[in-house]
Amino acid sequence: EVRTRFAPSPTGYMHVGNLRTALYTWLIARHSGGKFILRIEDTDQGRLVEGAVEVIYKTLKECGLTWDEGPDVGGPVGPYIQTERKDLYSKYARLLVEKGGAYYCFCEKAEAEEGAPFEKAEDPCRNLSQQEIDEKLAAGVPYVIRQKIPHGGQTTFHDAVFGSITVDNDTLDDNVLIKSDGLPTYNFANVVDDHLMGITHVVRGSEYLSSAPKYNLLYEAFGWEVPEYIHCSPVMRDAHNKMSKRHGDPSYEDLLEQGYLCEAVVNYVSLLGWAPKGENAEREFFTLDELSQVFDIAGISKSPAIFDREKLNYFNAHYLRALSPEAFYAAAEPYLKAAVRAPQVDLKLVAPLVQGRCDTLLDIAPQVDFFDALPEYGNELYCHKKMKTDEANSLEALNAVLPVLEALPEWTYDAIHNALVGLAERLELKNGRIMWPVRTALSGKPVTPGGAVELCQLLGREESLVRIRKGIA
Ligand code: GLU
Repeated sequence: EVRTRFAPSPTGYMHVGNLRTALYTWLIARHSGGKFILRIEDTDQGRLVEGAVEVIYKTLKECGLTWDEGPDVGGPVGPYIQTERKDLYSKYARLLVEKGGAYYCFCEKAEAEEGAPFEKAEDPCRNLSQQEIDEKLAAGVPYVIRQKIPHGGQTTFHDAVFGSITVDNDTLDDNVLIKSDGLPTYNFANVVDDHLMGITHVVRGSEYLSSAPKYNLLYEAFGWEVPEYIHCSPVMRDAHNKMSKRHGDPSYEDLLEQGYLCEAVVNYVSLLGWAPKGENAEREFFTLDELSQVFDIAGISKSPAIFDREKLNYFNAHYLRALSPEAFYAAAEPYLKAAVRAPQVDLKLVAPLVQGRCDTLLDIAPQVDFFDALPEYGNELYCHKKMKTDEANSLEALNAVLPVLEALPEWTYDAIHNALVGLAERLELKNGRIMWPVRTALSGKPVTPGGAVELCQLLGREESLVRIRKGIA
């Protein structure tokens, strides 16, 4: 059975690259009916952020990446939080020492520079006798446990995306596996957990590629089966730089705040480093469910993908348009409410007018700001070639419209529409000669969501008449 895991460190937000990794990991499991496991890698206590685990839960849930095993839902190979597995790591480190794959290192330098590589050829602790080791342990001398990289020889590992990679063992350092405080280093905990959790496919960012040979040696020393590695190239801001939150690139949370829909982000992100093949080669839009059917490891690309805002906008616009009116209103409501305060404006009627005109939900506000206050505008707005309007005939039109609307017994869409169209008929004018000046007077903008009739209806009788009078004055 395929078992994959997403193993985030709780940083408080989700990088686009992390989301992509989570998505691919999930898709590989779902595609083959396997299990998707969530493991929290929190051994780096210095980087802990309050509430960060909740952010991970929330993001995965929002994106539909349900997990079968994890800290909150449990499972057969828990606990699923690394700090709760501390004892396991020391146990397996001691086992590895017994098997000859690791050694106790009592060097003071080791204590001072726990993470730092140590020239293995120079490390005297590699060759301590069992008696020396026992004495030091009994005397309580602080120690770390280091991986014992074989002298000479080569290590080859296989990656599903990058192929086979061979390195000289002498280029690898005897890295620390267990620190002097008893906590594992990241690389060790990762290997032990992947094995104990029965992970068959390890999907992760290619920044870990250089650690992979050391992982292989650990698996070998333990006598464990090596899982399938699937390293994914970074998501780039441009040709040369990785996306980075510190340099202002958006995280997943930032994108939602910037008015993107989760479904659009997920669909777009799925294509950042993977491409469908065969009959789907040209296809862009996939639901999560569809992705889980067509996703394949072979489609993952070695070359880094560039995060393209225009492309994401295109996806988002598509997803916004595809929403049902109710769903669009639900998504747009906070943005509409923030932009339009005029109490008479029915936002439920405004929503469908903007639905087809947005790349992101942030595009709503600038389109509807005139409902609250008429912007300053010049008479040139009345001049529209196609509508055959100019300043003079627009003024005439408004003068003719005003009494008609003032006399209207009811202020409904149909009543307003019939009155304006009727007026154009009586004056033997094209509708545009009436509608365009009214729309301009009501909005002060050359482009509005909705036309003259909708704007009248939304603004209400009083405000509409005030604005038309203002257009005349
Ligand atoms: N905890 C690592 C990270 O957040 C995951 C590395 C892995 O998946 O092996 O980057």
